Amino acid sequence: MEQSNMRASSGKVTAPAGELASVINGCYQCGKCSAGCPVASEMDLLPHQMVRLGVLGDVERIVSSQSIWLCLTCHTCGARCPNGIDVPALLDHIRHQVVAGKIETQQPQVPAFHTTFMQNVRRFGRVHELSLVGMYKMKTKTWFADMKLGLEMFRKGKMHIMPKFPFGNNAVKEIFKKSSLK
Ligand code: SF4
Ligand code: SF4
Repeated sequence: MEQSNMRASSGKVTAPAGELASVINGCYQCGKCSAGCPVASEMDLLPHQMVRLGVLGDVERIVSSQSIWLCLTCHTCGARCPNGIDVPALLDHIRHQVVAGKIETQQPQVPAFHTTFMQNVRRFGRVHELSLVGMYKMKTKTWFADMKLGLEMFRKGKMHIMPKFPFGNNAVKEIFKKSSLK
């Protein structure tokens, strides 16, 4: 495992508490979650290591990792864990705080994409790729990155000029209203 050498300067992320803490406390480090994780080879902290850090309350190391943003939320770990521990439940607890608190991370483009994606879905009821890319580029100032890929998507009809629901979708807006998502 390659260790992260950059520490988040937050101090604002709280350690798991309550039900989440009692669930992850059941971890006995068997490593089955990491063995089945499809992106484990790319991670600088493996799933079972993040669970251990969560148990120890060392959430800063998780915030500082790349793994927190590499997790696909595929839930393979939760399905394999003999104790029913779902790693994304732990990571969501941390990711939400990072996004809400605008905390600096090693991969700033990932929370920027996450926020832009959610704003786009909230606005249009489903993702509208062209405006998503525009908003993301404005936020990250990565104007010319992935240009070739974007043109290819456009050529293949994967990017539409107009959104499917220009005025949004009330059912989706209601979901956002009932959630704590801003
Ligand atoms: S599979 Fe479950 S018990 Fe085993 S290390 Fe992962 S989280 Fe812990
Ligand atoms: S949910 Fe995340 S940590 Fe769990 S197996 Fe999938 S990618 Fe790996």
